[in-house]
Amino acid sequence: MPAPFADAAALARFFDAARAIVGEDRVFAAEDDRRAYADQMAFDPAAHQPSGAVAAESVEHIQALLKAAAAARVPLWPISRGKNFGYGGSAPVQAGAVVLDLSRMNRVLEINQQLGYCVVEPGVSFYDLFDALARIGHPLWMSVPGNSWGSVAGNALERGVGPQPYGDHAAQICGLEVVLPDASLVRTGAGALDGNTAWHVTKNSYGPGWDQLFCQSNFGVVTKLGLWLMPPPEATMSLSLQLPEADDIERGIAMHAPLRLRGIIDHDAAWVSYVGIASYAGPRSMFWQGEGLLPEAEGAKIREKLGVGWWNSQVNLFGPEAVIAAKAKIISAAAKDAGIAAADWQVWRQGDDFGLSQAGIPSTRDMAMIDWYGGRGGHLGFSPVMPSDAKLAAEQFRRTRKRYEEFGVDYYGAFGVGGRQTVAVNEILYNRDDPDQARRVHALFDALIRDTHQAGFGEYRTHIGYMDAVAQTFDFNNHAMRRLNETLKDALDPHGILAPGKQGIWPRAWRDR
Ligand code: ADP
Repeated sequence: MPAPFADAAALARFFDAARAIVGEDRVFAAEDDRRAYADQMAFDPAAHQPSGAVAAESVEHIQALLKAAAAARVPLWPISRGKNFGYGGSAPVQAGAVVLDLSRMNRVLEINQQLGYCVVEPGVSFYDLFDALARIGHPLWMSVPGNSWGSVAGNALERGVGPQPYGDHAAQICGLEVVLPDASLVRTGAGALDGNTAWHVTKNSYGPGWDQLFCQSNFGVVTKLGLWLMPPPEATMSLSLQLPEADDIERGIAMHAPLRLRGIIDHDAAWVSYVGIASYAGPRSMFWQGEGLLPEAEGAKIREKLGVGWWNSQVNLFGPEAVIAAKAKIISAAAKDAGIAAADWQVWRQGDDFGLSQAGIPSTRDMAMIDWYGGRGGHLGFSPVMPSDAKLAAEQFRRTRKRYEEFGVDYYGAFGVGGRQTVAVNEILYNRDDPDQARRVHALFDALIRDTHQAGFGEYRTHIGYMDAVAQTFDFNNHAMRRLNETLKDALDPHGILAPGKQGIWPRAWRDR
């Protein structure tokens, strides 16, 4: 057993205790179960193979399971729905950990139409919340990530994003209920005052703010999450933009960033490279049957066939029609000034077909991309954050693309342009049945971490296999941040049982080995 504490006897003790807590049918420790909770997209699932899983259905279950885990010294890896696509799925950093599956805690506890928020349990999926809102006529709109098969809570806690005004999902979190590793139950923010109805409306309550400390950390198990949702706009307008050449990314970011900063555009608008769009349409063999890197001439044929640019963006506006029509004029003028080709604005008004509204409607379309190379598709996300500075972003693109070419992988990147930060999301697609390509993909990933660090930037999120490597790049003052994280970890989780190694944060007992 690779986990330092969880030998077979300890695991057996824990699973026995777990059966007494949640029932026989909620403990999954057979070979098939272990496979089901492994990272399905990984080339080497064994590296992060869990020992099994236990499904909790209540706060009391979670508390009892944490106590049992501490007694047996068995690490638990909490997941909401475990669909953390390209970042590890439901699998733990540390092989041997037991997955704490919260997907059965899936109640939408509140939808507050007046104040614009919802409260969800961890297992609520984007589809569940969408259905709950649809049943009452969409009094609030959600923001969804491109591939929205996961949970609202897990995605927000990992700082997922969507192309909507409320698309910075972690920023919409307001008020959490959390079970700490010692099994105590806390409510953050205004919720610390028992019965306070301001729990999910203010982020600036009394004392330190803890909501963000439970994002991308291993300090607690979130059992309730307040999330701000957008009031439905009277109308939406959307505009498709294209850039014909790879190097045009600089112009594209230079157009979006100031509009975003000034609030003319009120969502992070991405520029997506054409391979991404092609990968949603079909596997590469649909366009070209050759081997190796997709040649630029073949790429040009794909763009022609799909009617897309090298880079493609969609800008959406939300609000009263008079307001957004005025914004649309400013955006059209900015596109014209930058020489950027734009289609006609598409307008949607309340009462029109909801499907055309630009509301966050869950979809799994993006999943198709993993079939790009055929075989059993795999996918890794590399997502550094940089300033919304067109020149810097263009340098990042050129550096990254060169590495993709060096390692023989078709470049697929998207630059999500915010007013101040731009997230360079790189989707690295591969065929898991091709061990040579998988090896090259991992070498590419290492090179990207190194290059980006050298350029002075870091990732905002990473795959479980790279959490230490990325944490290592956050190196100010000889890794002072790591020591701060470790101090908190040791105080909150003295037995080191909750998600050891997540985000490169290891409890003392594990660091000592
Ligand atoms: P999704 O269901 O959206 O796919 P996951 O359940 O895979 O998201 O969650 C992504 C990651 O976020 C998990 O690996 C875990 O580290 C963390 N996480 C998810 N849910 C919780 C939770 N309720 N409490 C603490 N951490 C969580």
